[in-house]
Amino acid sequence: MIWNDEAECMAADDKKELQLKRLQEVVKRAYENVSYYKKAFDEAGVSPEDINSLKDIEKLPFTSKTDLREAYPFGMFAVSPDDIVEVHTTSGTTGKPTVSGYTQNDLDLWSEVMARSLTMAGGDRTDRIQNCYGYGLFTGGLGIHYGAQKIGATVIPISAGNTMRQIEIMQDFGSTILTCTPSYAMYLAEVLEEQGVGPEKLNLKAGVFGAEMWTEEMRDEIEKRLNLSALNIYGLTEIIGPGVAQECYKKDGLHIFDDHFYPEIIDPESLKTVPDGGKGELVLTTLTREGMPVIRFRTRDITTLRPGKCECGRTHVKMDRITGRSDDMLKIRGVIVFPSQIERALLKIEGLHPQYQIIVSRPHQLDELEVQVEASPVLFSDEVKHVEGVKRNIEEHIHDEIGLRVNVSLVEPQSLPRSEGKAVRVIDKRNL
Ligand code: ZN
Repeated sequence: MIWNDEAECMAADDKKELQLKRLQEVVKRAYENVSYYKKAFDEAGVSPEDINSLKDIEKLPFTSKTDLREAYPFGMFAVSPDDIVEVHTTSGTTGKPTVSGYTQNDLDLWSEVMARSLTMAGGDRTDRIQNCYGYGLFTGGLGIHYGAQKIGATVIPISAGNTMRQIEIMQDFGSTILTCTPSYAMYLAEVLEEQGVGPEKLNLKAGVFGAEMWTEEMRDEIEKRLNLSALNIYGLTEIIGPGVAQECYKKDGLHIFDDHFYPEIIDPESLKTVPDGGKGELVLTTLTREGMPVIRFRTRDITTLRPGKCECGRTHVKMDRITGRSDDMLKIRGVIVFPSQIERALLKIEGLHPQYQIIVSRPHQLDELEVQVEASPVLFSDEVKHVEGVKRNIEEHIHDEIGLRVNVSLVEPQSLPRSEGKAVRVIDKRNL
């Protein structure tokens, strides 16, 4: 099923024409109504009249997270604060959060793209959507909520946390679609197993998982343990929230809703545009947002774009699953390492749960990488000799994946922090 055939299956030329028209409008609106953009465009020597093709977007300056943060709280709004009907913020774990303001039209847009996402995951009015994303200033909860209501599904606004209650409601209400972070889905699976609730006692058919990075191996694990089809959703508060891109049943990349969000890939070091099919940092421009248009936002997420028609019928450009962040990318002894590579290595080992934490230190002027992995209770009660063997096995798998020697330590089951929001996978003690 496709929510909006006309928009989602648009011919390539029509799409380009629409994108250009919308780009010209949004650039003009930003320039005329947001002092930050007026100043930034003037400094770059570019004006709205210079945008005559999609390629001309490259003349425009980038917007960074810092730029948005410096405009805290309402400096990036392109309308009167009275026309803003809802605000959200990023988590603000490092300094002030960034604020996102929505007019009524922006909320309608958000509902539309989320309706496309949930329909892509097989959702319709007969579904019961257990929404375990947090409600509040975080965009996860309400974004899913608006989309679920738009498609006429029953939304269960349970929000994050209280796992025992989640499990009870899931069984009693017969939830069919689960929406949460992939690490929380794994945690739910663990607790369900502990409680002796097999997947056959549940009614789940699909999961819409996002807000953090995960791997194909993790998808297999979640699908097996929860007996559902696990799909990837992508979004960010600065652009709208969840609903920027979503995977279809092909599970081969995420469709970006590119009639509303215009994607580019750049080289994060040279800042030059990378041609289609090349890997780099995703940059997004909101083509239709009123309250807070964002031009060329540097997401820091590393991916690849693949245009063309998908077997599902959609022509929305696809992006590969995020494999890292340009600011999360670790350089260990000159080698680039992404946490997702460690996760992939761990998931290749039978019987190991991918609960891990990466600790980087530089004790003797040389980077050292320690990976703490939770052992299963069975393993922990086992002989020391066996434990040593498992440790070495993990070290070898990680070496194969990243080409570096690391120290693995096995820690007690359930001892690493469990996230009900985003997992903290890396602790960098180097003070670089
Ligand atoms: Zn598709």
